[in-house]
Amino acid sequence: MAIVSCPQCNEKMSDKAATCPKCGFVVDGLDADTLERKRRRNRADQIHKLTTQSMLAMLLFVAGIAGLFYYRDETAPDPTWQSQVAIVVIVIGFVWYIVNRIRMMLARRK
Ligand SMILES: [Zn+2]
Repeated sequence: MAIVSCPQCNEKMSDKAATCPKCGFVVDGLDADTLERKRRRNRADQIHKLTTQSMLAMLLFVAGIAGLFYYRDETAPDPTWQSQVAIVVIVIGFVWYIVNRIRMMLARRK
């Protein structure tokens, strides 16, 4: 018995199991080629999704920087709440982007 990953949800499962215990995907009766094709398509879909998300993250980051410049007020002693929000948006965008890049790297390695 070997451990393989489910072609549908990528969860670990036995190669002797007829269906995936997690998502219920029926593996039984499918030949190796079909399974491999399904796995590859799922991975491509996942990478595509992550690419879209990292684009959004980058957009958030850029929007945050734009907001920071737009709401900058040098006459005020403290930063305005808008520029504080902009800083939070920049941090979220940056962290989200890095997380997505790491997830993409891991997805490609599988
Ligand atoms: Zn599954």
